[in-house]
Amino acid sequence: MAPLKVMVGVKRVIDFAVKVRVAPGGLGVQSEGVKHSLNPFCEIALEQGVRMKEGGEASEVIAVSVGPPQNQDALRSALALGADRAVLLRSGPGAPVGPREASLALGALVRKLQPDLVLLGKQAIDDDCNQTGQLLAAILDWPQGTFISQLRVAGEEVEVEREVDGGLERLRLRLPAVLTTDLRLNEPRYATLPNIMKAKKKPLEVLEMSEVGVPPHPPPA
Ligand code: AMP
Repeated sequence: MAPLKVMVGVKRVIDFAVKVRVAPGGLGVQSEGVKHSLNPFCEIALEQGVRMKEGGEASEVIAVSVGPPQNQDALRSALALGADRAVLLRSGPGAPVGPREASLALGALVRKLQPDLVLLGKQAIDDDCNQTGQLLAAILDWPQGTFISQLRVAGEEVEVEREVDGGLERLRLRLPAVLTTDLRLNEPRYATLPNIMKAKKKPLEVLEMSEVGVPPHPPPA
């Protein structure tokens, strides 16, 4: 099979090292003025895509994010770590993007970008939901491999090892497929200064929800 077009979903979250505080009003956490980073499991997903490109198994790695304009920071980090291009699907202010909105929006991006493989983190460390990959696979009616700790491309299929309660499970999935990454899949690289500079020139496209046929988020009042 020809090298795969790989789409990687990346989420911008409060940095794992920040001590999270309750926001005034008590209904959420303080996110203003707090350091944000790429969700660590998304870094692992991205690293896998980049390694596949370096190994000739992928033709292109596209980092995508659904959220407010600030998510462009996360996408620039993804570009510095080796993604070829990035797409932000913009949501409106003041409405967190949960797994439901993220998976519907990622499904619309899949229809637009036509990847052979979607790699997501197993969970986002802000909401710890662990739902988006499973929902996306259901929306697309694609095979899913969750919590993967090994990945091998085998023709029209991928072979994955996944971490389950009883140990390790091996699966073969037909492509296209959705995979979510566990901690032991790889150890992500750090972005080098030259790559951070080069990332500023890589393409980052911003799309509105209406351009991919998804209802606006938040819904109009
Ligand atoms: P969750 O289901 O919220 O724990 O997120 C699991 C994974 O889904 C993350 O590691 C990302 O790869 C992907 N994901 C979740 N939300 C978004 C988003 N807003 N934009 C892009 N990818 C996302």
